[in-house]
Order: sequence, then structure tokens, then C-alpha cells
Amino acid sequence: VSEKPDSGGSRILVFVRVRPMAKKEKEAGSRCCVKIVNRRDLYLTEFANENDYLRLKRLRGRHFTFNASFPDNATQQEVYSTTIADLVEAVLQGRNGSVFCYGATGAGKTYTMLGTVENPGVMVLAIKDLFNKIRQRSSDGNHTVHLSYLEVYNETVRDLLSPGRPLVLREDKQGMVAAGLTQYRAYSTDEVMAMLQQGNQNRTTEPTRANETSSRSHAILQVVVEYRVKDAGMNVVKRVGKLSLIDLAGSERALATDQRTLRSLEGANINRSLLALSSCINALVEGKKHIPFRNSKLTQLLKDSLGGACNTVMIANISPSNLSFGETQNTLHWADRAKEI
Ligand code: ADP
Ligand code: MG
Repeated sequence: VSEKPDSGGSRILVFVRVRPMAKKEKEAGSRCCVKIVNRRDLYLTEFANENDYLRLKRLRGRHFTFNASFPDNATQQEVYSTTIADLVEAVLQGRNGSVFCYGATGAGKTYTMLGTVENPGVMVLAIKDLFNKIRQRSSDGNHTVHLSYLEVYNETVRDLLSPGRPLVLREDKQGMVAAGLTQYRAYSTDEVMAMLQQGNQNRTTEPTRANETSSRSHAILQVVVEYRVKDAGMNVVKRVGKLSLIDLAGSERALATDQRTLRSLEGANINRSLLALSSCINALVEGKKHIPFRNSKLTQLLKDSLGGACNTVMIANISPSNLSFGETQNTLHWADRAKEI
């Protein structure tokens, strides 16, 4: 017997995180062009150290509000607790959810998702929290946690935990599955960080930049939580929740967001999966019945975790430097649009 809880509505929460100014940016003499007030209001301004809030408020089209905005000194734990902790609880209830980091290359997506050994990112903190929550629950049932870590690069799906030949997607009763994908049974957090770091090492690199992850690579961590419990009639009831955490490709090449543009750009050197994700989000924003999941590998993989009864969290990452003003503005407009779902 399989049980799905009340669907509830779909909702999307949108957050923005500003990373610290990089050494390179400082050396290039850049100024800070982002100001966050009360961890919510965000102003994009060309003026350094803007303190005149009345003047800031007059900056048309440059004032944004999100569910929260994180300044450059926000900790990984703060970002995790504010953005994803509730979603982890929902996954334990058998719901699906997804978390995306969106933004230009160098804006802090991988730092937010994976982080470093000293400062683990939300992928690791989510799994840690998940195990804590499972431990706190009563022992009347049992939970299993499986992890898969995969990459979509150039419309090819690869297993980051067991690199090899590309994986084929096929549809089955459970939805879209990547045939042969490693399902790693996790028992504790300790092994997970090392495993994710190693997986991240397996991401595709550009031939010209041997050690740098390609800006066109999407990394997806899927955490599947299964809960089995006997009901009053001693039947085993199974509940499955899935959390997908996605470190998206750099958004700098994906400015086009509507379906027509997507088609006209086909074959051009653009990131099909990122454009298709934008199209799906647009369709969800507009309340369309048909969501074009089929248009890319990424959206096929996320079909069961986006829209419908799923919780979605979007974290837009931006640089504080005026040298990235254009990219930052694009990212903020995209995020602003996404929050209308
Ligand atoms: P992306 O994945 O978006 O291309 P990265 O996450 O690799 O960007 O970040 C670029 C650089 O900035 C990295 O060296 C990273 O360690 C650093 N960085 C990003 N965000 C933060 C942050 N919040 N605090 C400290 N360093 C950060
Ligand atoms: Mg990255």
C-alpha cells in the first residue's frame, strides 16, 4: 500500500544571497552595488555605501523584496535554517521538494550548495538535519535514506557517484528514472560530505580549464526518504518523500526565458536545460495547465519535484561588485519573477 499525504498547494520561496567581495574584484577597484536592509529588502545601486534610504527607495526597478535576503556575512547555518529546514520536514511527511541555486558563474552557487569542509553547505546541512529528525522520531516505523548525485551536462546525464557512461532516462511507475543510477544508502552524515566533494570533483570540466567545473554543468543531489510503518490492520504502509538539491549551471548564457526564444535558439550554444527550467517556471507562474517538462533532461528529472504539491525553494546567488551589475540585475529580475508562483 502506498500513501500520499494531502497535496496542499504548490508554493515557491525565493531567497537571495550576496557573497563577499572577492580579492580579484577588490583589486580591480570595484564598489559594492548591493544593499540589504532588515534581511529582506534588497537595493541594487551604483552608489557605494548608500545610506540615504529615501533616495534608495526612489531607485525604480532596483528595489526587490524576497522571502529573505542574506548579506555577505550570513552563515551557512542561517541560510539553511531559513530556506530549507521546513522542506526537510515536509519530505519526512512524504512530500517532494526541490531547492535551486541560480546565478552567474562565480556568484556562490556551489559554495551555498556544497560549501567547504569547514563550512558545509545546505546539501550537507540538510542531510545532517534529516538524520537528526529521524533519530528524534518514535521507533514505530523505519526510515531509509538513499542518495543519488548526478550531472546534466550538454543534455547528457551522468552519475557523479559512479562516473562512466551516460545514463538513459526512462519513464516508469515512479516517474522519470535514470537507468542504473547509484542509489547510495546513507546511515550517517559523516560519510556524506566526503562523498559529495568527490562527486563534485567528477563534474565535467572545460578542456581549457582543467580544474574548474564547467559553468554549464548542473549537479543534482536527490535524497529519497522512505518510511515504512504498520497500520492498524497490520498492513505495511510506505511513504516516500524526495528532496532534490540543484546546483544550476551559470545563468549568464540563459537570458532568454520564453518558449519562442527557446525554440529560436535551439542548436545555438546555449544551455537547453536552464532555458527549459525557466520555461517551466514561467508556465507555473502563469498558472498554465501544461508545463513543458519534456523539453530538457533537467526538467524531465525534476518533473515530480516541481509545481503541483511540491515545495520549491530558489536561492539566487549574486556578487556584490558593480563589475557584475548587469548579471546581478538579470538574476534579481529572474528571481523576482519566480516568486509570483
Ligand atoms: P559558482 O558555483 O556560482 O560559480 P562558487 O560557489 O564557486 O560560485 O563561488 C565563487 C568563489 O567565491 C569561491 O571561491 C567561493 O569559495 C567563494 N564564495 C562564494 N560564496 C561565498 C560566501 N558566502 N562566503 C565566502 N566565500 C564565498
Ligand atoms: Mg559552481
